[in-house]
Amino acid sequence: MKILVINCGSSSLKFQLIDSETEAVAAKGLCERIGMEGSKLIYTPAGGEKQETEAPMEDHKKAVSLVIDALTDKETGVLSSLSEIDAVGHRLVHGGEKFASSTLINEEVITAITECNDLAPLHNPANLIGINACQELMPGVPQAGVFDTAFHQTMPEKAYLYGIPYEYYEKYRIRRYGFHGTSHSYVSKRAAEMLGKDYGDAKIIVCHLGNGASVSAIKNGKCVDTSMGLTPLEGLMMGTRSGDIDPAIVEFLAHKEDLSIDEIMSILNKKSGMYGLSGYLSSDSRDLHAASDEGKPEGIRTIKTYCYRVAKYIGAYTAAMNGVDAICFTAGIGENSPETREEVCEYLGYLGIAIDAEQNKKRGEDVVISTADSRVKVMVIPTNEELAIARETAALVRG
Ligand code: ADP
Repeated sequence: MKILVINCGSSSLKFQLIDSETEAVAAKGLCERIGMEGSKLIYTPAGGEKQETEAPMEDHKKAVSLVIDALTDKETGVLSSLSEIDAVGHRLVHGGEKFASSTLINEEVITAITECNDLAPLHNPANLIGINACQELMPGVPQAGVFDTAFHQTMPEKAYLYGIPYEYYEKYRIRRYGFHGTSHSYVSKRAAEMLGKDYGDAKIIVCHLGNGASVSAIKNGKCVDTSMGLTPLEGLMMGTRSGDIDPAIVEFLAHKEDLSIDEIMSILNKKSGMYGLSGYLSSDSRDLHAASDEGKPEGIRTIKTYCYRVAKYIGAYTAAMNGVDAICFTAGIGENSPETREEVCEYLGYLGIAIDAEQNKKRGEDVVISTADSRVKVMVIPTNEELAIARETAALVRG
């Protein structure tokens, strides 16, 4: 089956065309600045060169139609016609409590996703626009929704409730949901394979460390806790997001700096985390490691705080599962920063963990980086959310 995987943001659209039998990527790309000046399509067919084309895209429908044109182009396309696309798989951000698994999209599902818009006001409407555009341009082609939140729906009540009046959960479903579920699911399954253990009988911690970052605890094949909450702001310190803070800081800052709630939320989402803590030096961990290596205090404090917070979550989740078999690193920082992995693991001696420096240098492959005699295995597993979405979509279409 040929599956078009779509990840629609408010002004962008990422896509991959994946053959579900061979799991090969036939083509991939990105539409940027949708609805703005200077919008552009970046398209790379497998084995071919990356092409960048400036093209006006007034909306997501236009973007999807340009993607289809690129995929079916006589010279650089990979399909002879649109009818070769068997299904579309959409990455959807927030399924609230309504979706504990992926689903084929129909009118009822669209209504249910729309009802979750309040929970993800920036993401869900964009996701829905993407679905709508595909339905109009590819009528009759089955479409599936794969939710970032679904994998975490197995969390027990004690993990998902906040210590605030219960009526707010009852009225507004204010609770912890978690995100990056597709990645946590993909990586933890692969970790069980690498451990040679049954997924239903393993305790795994996944550290998804990208621009956004979250940790999750997967016990016997089910997510039992994860660090993001009602929104992706909770948990680890991230590229530009604060992660956990004392909520009273909001009021304190509002008075001291004469800021509105919206302004403070923007600071916590866009100007905090590594970016804010480094004195706005950078949100990219490469720059901060470089600064730290040069002895600059802004780099040193940021990297130290970042790694310490990851290590604290690993400790908490080891307690939550009463043990751990494997700790996995994934996403931009998790996959590419041996320094971060090493510094986090320095806190984990109590788990009998030691890191093999040579293994830790490897890149771009699934690898165990702990020494052979480590009691708990530490792994690097490059995440592949698009492949996971293609697999889920193919399974749903097959029925
Ligand atoms: P997103 O959450 O946007 O999907 P990614 O998973 O692509 O993010 O992660 C992006 C981040 O990964 C960058 O901001 C950068 O901090 C980090 N990163 C990428 N490559 C490296 C590297 N070689 N060394 C350290 N960090 C890296």
